[in-house]
Amino acid sequence: MDRNLLERIRELTQSARRILMVTHVAPDGDAIGSLLGLGLLLRAQGKELTLACEDPVPELYTWLPGSAGIVRQTSGPYDLVVSLDCSDERRMGSVFHEGLAGLPLLNIDHHVTNTLFGTINWVDPSAVATAQMILSLAGALGWPLSKPVADCLLTGMVTDTRSFRTYNVDTAAIRAALRLMEEGAELNEIARRALDQRPLASVRLWGEAIGRLNTDGEILWTEVTRAMRQRWGLGENGDSGLANFLSGVRESKIVVVFTERDNGTIDVGMRSVPGHDVAAAAYRLGGGGHPQAAGCTLEGDLAVVRQRVLDEVRRSLAGDDAKGP
Ligand code: 5GP
Ligand code: MN
Repeated sequence: MDRNLLERIRELTQSARRILMVTHVAPDGDAIGSLLGLGLLLRAQGKELTLACEDPVPELYTWLPGSAGIVRQTSGPYDLVVSLDCSDERRMGSVFHEGLAGLPLLNIDHHVTNTLFGTINWVDPSAVATAQMILSLAGALGWPLSKPVADCLLTGMVTDTRSFRTYNVDTAAIRAALRLMEEGAELNEIARRALDQRPLASVRLWGEAIGRLNTDGEILWTEVTRAMRQRWGLGENGDSGLANFLSGVRESKIVVVFTERDNGTIDVGMRSVPGHDVAAAAYRLGGGGHPQAAGCTLEGDLAVVRQRVLDEVRRSLAGDDAKGP
């Protein structure tokens, strides 16, 4: 980690008394794990914190220490805002409102598409998860770890790497995981909770979505409508398991899953094999992500959104984005 940047982060976090920490809408395990992990570390440094996320914590992550303390609205006053795992300002959702615009904003993220929207930007696409960056920060600043911190951070790393199986996993990621396990985090238990366990209704919904699978050349796509979720009594559970599962289909290079959210927007999840970069297509659609896993959120009718996204993905398969990582 760059020394100048580290010093600036040290100064910022030392001088601030009341810190607002936010993570992205529709949070995943890295969002919640990084928020709670850094929260525990900063509280141990005597900071007064508000942890915020526009959407509720998915049930999958409510076992993490402190998850019940995450709020969905913010009032202040604050001296500093820290954004975690957000690739652009909009990802912070309504918890980052106009009243906060004048405050210093520390942007900590690992998406290659990050728009550098902070006053200080620490963006490291070589990190497999924002949680891995938080562990590095704790090491660099001499903040002591604990089992609760390790549980949160390992959950972040496990969800973003599907338990250390994604293409970006390297020795640094494994070393970070080892450090967290030495602190008491249980990899097998965390992987089971975050990745393998799901309600039967969720698998039934997958069944329906798989029944509607479509191929378009080397693109495989399907959709989860609000009516489908209602049929199985499912809310927005933050489960990207279906897209991950479909990414194993040998005949396809790119997978796209469209999910209708309760607020009417369409959540688009994309996966690709190395050599095809979905982050670029997602970025052009106003979203972001990583070369092999990206997404965007679009307004409008499902059929219209689907056409627009598939056109963009088709173009990226045919053209410039079809290069190695
Ligand atoms: P997933 O398909 O698991 O929801 O998301 C895959 C990746 O794409 C994650 O790194 C996530 O942060 C990113 N991503 C998903 N949806 C959006 C979105 O609406 N906007 C942006 N900027 N990134 C997204
Ligand atoms: Mn992440």
